[in-house]
Amino acid sequence: MIAILRNSAPDEAVDQLVSWIQSKGLQTDVSRGENEIVIGLVGDTTKIDPFLLESMDIVERVQRVSEPFKKANRKFHPADTVVDCGHGVKLGGGHFQVIAGPCSVEGENLLAIARRVHAAGATMLRGGAFKPRTSPYAYQGMGSEGLDLLVEASRELDMPIVTEIMDPRDVALFVDKGIDVMQIGARNAQNFPLLKEVGKTQVPVLLKRGMSGTIDELLMAAEYIMSEGNPNVILCERGIRTFETRTRNTFDLNAVPVLHYLSHLPVVADPSHATGYTRYVEPMALAACAAGADGLEIEVHDMPARAWSDGAQALTPDQFDHLMDRIRAIRAVIAQDGGRS
Ligand code: PEP
Ligand code: MN
Repeated sequence: MIAILRNSAPDEAVDQLVSWIQSKGLQTDVSRGENEIVIGLVGDTTKIDPFLLESMDIVERVQRVSEPFKKANRKFHPADTVVDCGHGVKLGGGHFQVIAGPCSVEGENLLAIARRVHAAGATMLRGGAFKPRTSPYAYQGMGSEGLDLLVEASRELDMPIVTEIMDPRDVALFVDKGIDVMQIGARNAQNFPLLKEVGKTQVPVLLKRGMSGTIDELLMAAEYIMSEGNPNVILCERGIRTFETRTRNTFDLNAVPVLHYLSHLPVVADPSHATGYTRYVEPMALAACAAGADGLEIEVHDMPARAWSDGAQALTPDQFDHLMDRIRAIRAVIAQDGGRS
């Protein structure tokens, strides 16, 4: 349920209303837009008489929210959410960022790759230290030592890092190391204990869509994180599994405008995992920009043929330079058009 208040409502009256709703055992989410104030009510809304609520002076109207996701719902929070990723980098609501780096942290080459992507204009560094591999015999990642290498690169370049967390027991380690953004990968998109655990922190979470996950399932996964108290969720479309075999996944670019319509959370697109082949990454990255993505996540490796994981979809630093030039060109055209409506 949401209560839309008159924009003339005094702060004191809004606070009183919020306390009254909370006294009924419900959670509230207050969103102040330019023209209205919206209070989202989460919990057992049968405890509130909607007619009584609507009869209050400061309340303009009351609406039921039929979707099962509440906190992630744009009806609750009409304005775009802007996530502060640290190091002065904001994502969402007009703040566009490019996250780039290798699939896996492999050692000293991380710094060299990081320097190149930073010089090309990437604003966030990615790299997996804990890798979710389909085979238990495949390389599993450097673990905690890999996090240290990421932190070192982040300090040198003053850019936030994005790295995957797979186990709820690692949340304390990630917080301790000062990881800026925790990534939840496609294989863990419905790992509910993990979603809840990252929800207990305030660390931004880049939440990827499950391989066979619907848009609603992605939003419900975001709801798990937000319902624990962490509002800093970034959604990520990384391709879904379909009958098509020519690409690693099928990039569901519909998801970008659909998610923007349904939710206020920022939406990042990952053309690397979505296509699986270096040659397709640039065109689909540009398409995602044109579709209104708030950011891109791109895998870059200094020697893709030697990469420990996902070499087939990695761009070289030179290819990434070229892509960044074209992203700037596409973004300039979109900006002329006034952006997303
Ligand atoms: C990754 O980002 O390297 C990764 C494993 O992605 P996904 O979870 O989308 O497969
Ligand atoms: Mn990868």
